[in-house]
Amino acid sequence: MKTIVILGSTGSIGTNTLDIVDRFPTEFRVAGLTAGSNDALLETQIRRFKPRIVALSDPSAATRLRQRCLDLSVEILAGQEGLVQVASATEADLVVSAIVGGAGLVPTLAAIRSKKHIALANKEPMVMAGKLMQEEARRHGIRIFPVDSEHSAIFQSLEGHRITDVRRVILTASGGALWTLTKDELQDVSAERALQHPNWKMGAKITIDSATLMNKGLEVVEARWLFDIPESRIDVMIHRESIVHSLVEYEDRSMIAQLGLPDMRTPISYAMRYPERLPLDLPSLDLTEIGTLTFCKPDHDRFPCLDLGYESLKIGGTMPAAMNAANEVAVEAFLQGGIRFTDISDIIRSTMLAHSAREVENIEAALDADRWAREKAESLVHALPR
Ligand code: NAD
Ligand code: MG
Repeated sequence: MKTIVILGSTGSIGTNTLDIVDRFPTEFRVAGLTAGSNDALLETQIRRFKPRIVALSDPSAATRLRQRCLDLSVEILAGQEGLVQVASATEADLVVSAIVGGAGLVPTLAAIRSKKHIALANKEPMVMAGKLMQEEARRHGIRIFPVDSEHSAIFQSLEGHRITDVRRVILTASGGALWTLTKDELQDVSAERALQHPNWKMGAKITIDSATLMNKGLEVVEARWLFDIPESRIDVMIHRESIVHSLVEYEDRSMIAQLGLPDMRTPISYAMRYPERLPLDLPSLDLTEIGTLTFCKPDHDRFPCLDLGYESLKIGGTMPAAMNAANEVAVEAFLQGGIRFTDISDIIRSTMLAHSAREVENIEAALDADRWAREKAESLVHALPR
């Protein structure tokens, strides 16, 4: 039996993770849960999974949760310090890192430093400080298992092979909700429209990232650090059906891919129970029913964010952290109706141009760049005509 903590248990990845726990009650025990501000759902999860300790990053939500749970013995903490304590819960073997955004960096790092294996969905910390996280993981003798479907596919396609034989990895991208729109149509697209992802049901931020292709830009950086592979060996192709989750090409030109219907419970359960495969009672992929799978090149003109991901890696240091922070600010502004869809990439690019990258020698350097870029991006958002 594995004892787990879930950071971000009320989100899309968090609830899918708990669905797996629910299906395999003899495999997993939940020691801790955290969320941002959803005290109502966290209460339901506490009553069902009986964690010893929980935290909400929003202190007023934590106060409400304490009122809701007066009849329970669960320890309820608040703020970043609370998240860090849950992430370090002594009894846990594995921490499922599923907070959205840079807010997950400090708790995920705390989990690594407390010698917990990590099932990593929260890609933004890898973008901000991937090299450092991997160094910390090595130092503390733990492993970071990818949950992101593309990285899980690459991880699975690398099993039993030598990393020195890898020629390149190819990340597939669905193209998101707006792939068929023209440049002009993209200008005035509504958040509601951009949130209609064709294949995956995910949180709002990553759904917008999919529509801009920034998600793929972030995933290129994530792959760089997860697999210790330079960006020149990371390719991206559009695959609208989200069936081939990614591929590895070897020196002999053989390619190995992982396929499956788009359901995050497959990569989540693989990361949670590696190297075992849990018998998930999900529909099988029937390729004869699908018939045709399509692939094409990304469109760098309509979706410039993918190139920004590569660019951030070429510059290196704190540039990916600055890019990530600017993206978080721009996506939030777009979701609030404050900026246009096409402003997102402009804001990220302008923030990157203004940023002087320096080495990420410690976590503070990444957090400083994050703070700086948020301020810069906020000022760019406010400077736009409304
Ligand atoms: P979500 O918005 O559905 O859930 C986010 C979770 O984080 C919630 O529990 C929320 O309460 C919590 N949270 C939000 N802000 C917080 C803060 N400031 N401090 C602490 N907790 C906070 O997001 P999601 O779709 O589940 O995505 C989570 C992460 O996994 C993201 O990094 C995303 O890129 C990655 N990911 C998601 C999917 C997917 O299918 N949803 C797939 C691949 C990768
Ligand atoms: Mg992905």
